Amino acid sequence: MVTVPKFQEQTGHFDHASEVADLLAVAPYELDKGQKGPVFDRITQGLTRHHAANCTEYANMLRLLKFDADEEHALEDVPFLPARLFKLLDLKSVAPDAVHRVLTSSGTGGQPSRISLDAPTAALQTRVLTRIVGDFLGKSRLPMLVIDAPSTIRDRTRFNARAAGIMGFSMFGRNITYALNDDMSLDVDGVVAFLERHGQAPFFMFGFTFMVYQHLLGAGAGRVRGLENGILIHGGGWKKLVDLAIDNEAFKQRLKDETGLGRVHNYYGLVEQTGSIFMECEAGHMHCSNFSDVMIRDADFQLCPNGERGLIELVSLLPGSYPGHVLLTEDEGAVIGEDDCSCGRKGKYFQVYGRVAKAEVRGCSDAYASAS
Ligand SMILES: [Zn+2]
Repeated sequence: MVTVPKFQEQTGHFDHASEVADLLAVAPYELDKGQKGPVFDRITQGLTRHHAANCTEYANMLRLLKFDADEEHALEDVPFLPARLFKLLDLKSVAPDAVHRVLTSSGTGGQPSRISLDAPTAALQTRVLTRIVGDFLGKSRLPMLVIDAPSTIRDRTRFNARAAGIMGFSMFGRNITYALNDDMSLDVDGVVAFLERHGQAPFFMFGFTFMVYQHLLGAGAGRVRGLENGILIHGGGWKKLVDLAIDNEAFKQRLKDETGLGRVHNYYGLVEQTGSIFMECEAGHMHCSNFSDVMIRDADFQLCPNGERGLIELVSLLPGSYPGHVLLTEDEGAVIGEDDCSCGRKGKYFQVYGRVAKAEVRGCSDAYASAS
């Protein structure tokens, strides 16, 4: 029996951080549809009003779409911003001197996204990421093997998504060891020494998908075994694997066959919604947590029924300092089900198929950009 925290009474005052903190009292995949619905309606409505009142460009876009933030709306009717809009506009809902940190995406071509975080939003991101990842790794820090080279984070002039990912996930590890040399060759002796010390109990592995594919499987094929107790979390470079025509199942099978590694979790998320990432469960599904939701849109931006492919729209309860709580991605996916995944986690679960052709979405974001 799940005890849902008592959420704040409707008072007109919306305290974003404390509303999300109430959700942190529950296990991250505990809330079912009936419990999540009213919470999401309330917090997203509070966020939409907050952003409309504090971000002029966002308010202008809502006005153009004839959307009145003061009225109650179903979540699916809240306008989504194209995620790429953050490459074009510096959208924020806090005063410039409240900006604590600016996140930038690596940006494949053109401008990177710029995401302005204030201290409360940055703190929520860390707390929520900790809860989500903890559901897969457990509560204590595990010995960590990074499938990358130490130079990736040493050279700050090359600070990029890979470095940010390694540093973000390092808070879940201890005895952090890099599996690759600076020339990107596999440090076989280093990995063997790590396994001798830590390989008999669960340990954490982290890397970008393509790095794992290229350096642990490709060049490293057959040179490292004994990863049976490893738990790999990987993300990022999925597109490159699609280009190589290897799918998630084949990727996992090769890891198991060649290294013994059986627990492999892909993650999916946007830099624009850092913290509320989607993790792949044991059944191979991407999961929404208590802090996120997913909807699929067809070519006319209508909601797709479960099982139908379309553009992925993502909802996060975390963005308080910029209007990024409801975003349309350029990725194609499908919702598979809700609350009934065989892994036992509640929430919607879905599949990601990869990036759609750029031109299809660009028209939409251009319309938003020129409207603002
Ligand atoms: Zn599952």
